[in-house]
Amino acid sequence: MAGEPQDGCLFCKVVAGRIPATIVRETETTVAFRDINPQAPTHVLVIPKAHYENAAALAVGAPEVVADVLRETQAVAESEKLDSYRTVFNTGAGAGQTVFHVHAHVLGGRGLQWPPG
Ligand code: 5GP
Ligand code: ZN
Repeated sequence: MAGEPQDGCLFCKVVAGRIPATIVRETETTVAFRDINPQAPTHVLVIPKAHYENAAALAVGAPEVVADVLRETQAVAESEKLDSYRTVFNTGAGAGQTVFHVHAHVLGGRGLQWPPG
């Protein structure tokens, strides 16, 4: 069912505490943890605890949690003391999505080029 934990989903395992993660913030509906392969001095992933494949599916299935995730990206930026940061949702393998449990990348702590590669 939509939003239920999925067997084999890496980020559902993070939510369940079944694999280690460096958690920086947690709310009733979200978890924020450091990316294992950081692309910037700050690289934190913000995920909903509920399993949805991507941002669009989350917006359809649990729209209130989209706001929770975005609020948490700002909270992470504040706790990491970032003046500027980038929030990225990769959607689909062709755009670089490798984990199909929606996550916002929060990147900062260095200059970020635009447009990205
Ligand atoms: P995507 O490519 O799907 O947008 O992002 C997935 C992110 O998850 C990547 O930046 C990758 O480094 C990160 N990642 C993959 N496996 C793990 C893990 O086991 N722990 C953590 N903390 N991050 C992971
Ligand atoms: Zn999941």
